[in-house]
Amino acid sequence: MKKYNFNAGPSILPREVIEKTAQACLDLNGIGLSLMEISHRSKDFQPIMDEAQSLLKELLDVPAGYEVVFLGGGASLQFCQVPYNYLEHKAAYLNTGTWAKKAMKEAKLFGEVVEVASSADKNYTYIPKDFEIPTDVDYFHFTSNNTIFGTEIRKDFDAKVPVICDMSSDILSRPVDVSKYALIYGGAQKNLSMAGVTFVIIKSDTLGKVSRQIPTMLDYRTHVDKGSMFNTPPVVPIYCALMNLRWVKEHGGVKEMERRALERSRILYDEIDRNKLFRGTVEPEDRSVMNICFVMSDEYKELEQDFLAYATSKGMVGIKGHRSVGGFRASCYNGMSKEGVEALVACMKDFEANH
Ligand SMILES: *Cc1c(COP(=O)(O)O)cnc(C)c1O
Repeated sequence: MKKYNFNAGPSILPREVIEKTAQACLDLNGIGLSLMEISHRSKDFQPIMDEAQSLLKELLDVPAGYEVVFLGGGASLQFCQVPYNYLEHKAAYLNTGTWAKKAMKEAKLFGEVVEVASSADKNYTYIPKDFEIPTDVDYFHFTSNNTIFGTEIRKDFDAKVPVICDMSSDILSRPVDVSKYALIYGGAQKNLSMAGVTFVIIKSDTLGKVSRQIPTMLDYRTHVDKGSMFNTPPVVPIYCALMNLRWVKEHGGVKEMERRALERSRILYDEIDRNKLFRGTVEPEDRSVMNICFVMSDEYKELEQDFLAYATSKGMVGIKGHRSVGGFRASCYNGMSKEGVEALVACMKDFEANH
């Protein structure tokens, strides 16, 4: 039976990206050695790093003055590395859920943290709108896509202070005006690559503004200066990222990824809104096009386990909701086909007809 992978992360990748990465692990470009067993400084690896950086810049239309680095530690290490490098006195954070809160917790170790707004009052089911970004802060931080709660900010903020964004789960799903950011970061395992690498897009002239000493490995400058080769980078995830970046380019770039994401999410949200058994958990205007959260309607609550079992029997994988929301979450990253969401919709329709 065909499986449809709706996992939240690590998550779906285009099949050919996985196959090409697997092939390189056996024999990289016919050199008779595995990608895993060659020097990261060799002539066989350096072009992989170079192309991955330049292709990410090309696809996101990154302006001059920005660098792309590939690091370890996941987005979670960025929660600490960002304030380490940018927080001198005070930083502003938008609290839109679990990941935003984790970022705030780390920042508090380095200085004052202002929560500009929060949607905690309604279990993060919406994006706060009426807030001002203070002008006396070192930076403003937000999470563009809230992977757990299924809300998304699909716009770039105009701010008088540097803007820093966690784009772990919606990078490459739409065009972004990178010029409006000082730094964009994310773990790769949602929409860029397999787990094990973290991408950071940095506006170089925003670095070096804090007075504290920064340990070498946590100083962005180190990695910018050494082209992500200060120490051994995660070579296989970077190769996998390159294969995926090529795939995105071949399939029309981020504009086309956005068109597909909007189409997929519309198909699924339309069914959630139409089908009496289900309801969405997020304010319609703030719905994520990547992570689609829904629950059984109140009258049908007791059918939750049955629907999960039914959908699983039809090949749906990873649709159980996160424990802080319950119900279901269908993560539809770039690798998800329209056919995949149509298969899930068919399950919902069949289940409705049988109840
Ligand atoms: C998954 C996720 C993280 C955590 O990423 P790690 O790479 O596991 O540290 C952080 N932020 C967002 C928005 C995420 O979706």
